[in-house]
Amino acid sequence: MSNKGSEDFIKDLKARLRGTIIGSGEANYDEARKVYNAMIDKKPRLIARCADVADVILCVNFARENKLLLAVRCGGHNAGGLGIVEDGLVIDLAPIKYTGVDPTSGTATVGGGCTWGDVDHATHAFGMAVPSGIISTTGVGGLTLGGGIGHLTRKCGLTIDNLLSADVVLANGNFVKASADKNPDLYWALRGGGGNFGVVTAFEFKLHKIDMLYAGPMLYELSDAADVMKWYREFIVDASDDLNGWFAFLTVPPWPPFPEDLHLKKMCGIVWTCTAPQAEAEVMFKPIRAFKKPALDFVGPLPQPALQTLFDPIYPPGLQWYWRADFVNELSDAAIAQHVRFGQALPSMHSTMHLYPINGAAARVGKEKTAWNYRDANWAQVMVGVDPDPANKEKITKWTKDYFDALHPFSAGGAYVNFMMEEGEDRVKATYGANYKRLAEIKAKYDPENLFRVNQNIKPSDAKRAPA
Ligand SMILES: Cc1cc2nc3c(=O)[nH]c(=O)nc-3n(C[C@H](O)[C@H](O)[C@H](O)COP(=O)(O)OP(=O)(O)OC[C@H]3O[C@@H](n4cnc5c(N)ncnc54)[C@H](O)[C@@H]3O)c2cc1C
Repeated sequence: MSNKGSEDFIKDLKARLRGTIIGSGEANYDEARKVYNAMIDKKPRLIARCADVADVILCVNFARENKLLLAVRCGGHNAGGLGIVEDGLVIDLAPIKYTGVDPTSGTATVGGGCTWGDVDHATHAFGMAVPSGIISTTGVGGLTLGGGIGHLTRKCGLTIDNLLSADVVLANGNFVKASADKNPDLYWALRGGGGNFGVVTAFEFKLHKIDMLYAGPMLYELSDAADVMKWYREFIVDASDDLNGWFAFLTVPPWPPFPEDLHLKKMCGIVWTCTAPQAEAEVMFKPIRAFKKPALDFVGPLPQPALQTLFDPIYPPGLQWYWRADFVNELSDAAIAQHVRFGQALPSMHSTMHLYPINGAAARVGKEKTAWNYRDANWAQVMVGVDPDPANKEKITKWTKDYFDALHPFSAGGAYVNFMMEEGEDRVKATYGANYKRLAEIKAKYDPENLFRVNQNIKPSDAKRAPA
């Protein structure tokens, strides 16, 4: 930190900030440094709870001038704990929480510290929605900047495909707008490039008229898993955009509404979302229900926020999480055999594997139109070892790594950045593919000193450095 005297500098920052600064030794420090994944135990020097854009500018300048490692936190969900940093400054955006809905233009303006639950609450009042993920406590910031895959991906595209503009504080402290008209290179990079380019203090999204859905999980016996996967791989790729379904291996939670005879049973399933009106949806589900009678069929009319919060009770903050992911083009019979092997060996009730389709609307956006490169993969695959007990950390980690190692040879190469832990530069390059070069050039323009490097880091290219 600066040789001008760190304590004076901190006092000065505290005096100028509208939000609060929490340092080690303060009563709420341990609470403030917790992130969603309890496996992460990082001790930042300072956590700045920023109240507004001016606070963010102050903190970015402070970190740069004092050569402090800087992390930016929205929902704190990142698997590798990239919303927090050891011995550095954390810009915590949580107080910047507002969602303004304009039903006339069909847009929503969302503060940089919102969770998706905040957004769903505000937009549902107007019978509208922004496509996001599958858990409502996830931050808008991290999920959007990494891409955003969820229940509405086949209908509405990725979350970034619905991002109209962003307000950004750059590494030099300047505040800019990024959109198709303003700083289009930055706008391109933000759509998939993660937190590499600045702190996004507000997102403007296109809204969709999505209110009631026909949705929910259908579960099958594990002995049917291979058949279900073989049927699903053909069905989902050609399905109507109105229909989304992600495949999972899971353990049935031991509480209502699940029937007692299924409690703690390992099963496989598909979580369906249909945006067509109910009568049409019921017709669309006829072949699904005809293919094989599920052991449990919870698919029915559901308000959009109910679907978005369906899995929240299973995954509260504070569990141990270990993640591994890949993009997948094809689900071969050999890959399915490995999936079934590891699905049968789920190491804990919370552990799971998901295959999220990225076909439909998401696949019709060109690879080069945004930074998000894997438009032609059919699935984003993620295996997650999860358990409340730190004593089971090794067990869930080993299962995840072994599962990943068995399936990686069948993958397309890179992985969805939001499902990655800290896995090194080669993995980041594989993920961005041909878009990496352009991302590195844009990084060199907007963040030449790599101030924003607590993320899936894109190194500034040496070729093109100009002041932003
Ligand atoms: C239970 C669970 C469910 C999930 N489900 C989905 C899902 O359905 N679909 C999906 O796509 N992903 C999903 N994810 C992954 C999720 O998208 C990533 O973990 C994402 O990083 C979380 O965003 P966050 O804002 O909560 O994270 P944080 O930990 O706060 O931040 C993560 C990263 O994003 C950067 N960042 C965050 N906000 C900003 C901002 N405003 N400006 C600049 N940089 C910022 C941070 O610097 C950091 O590098 C899930 C994760 C969990 C734990």
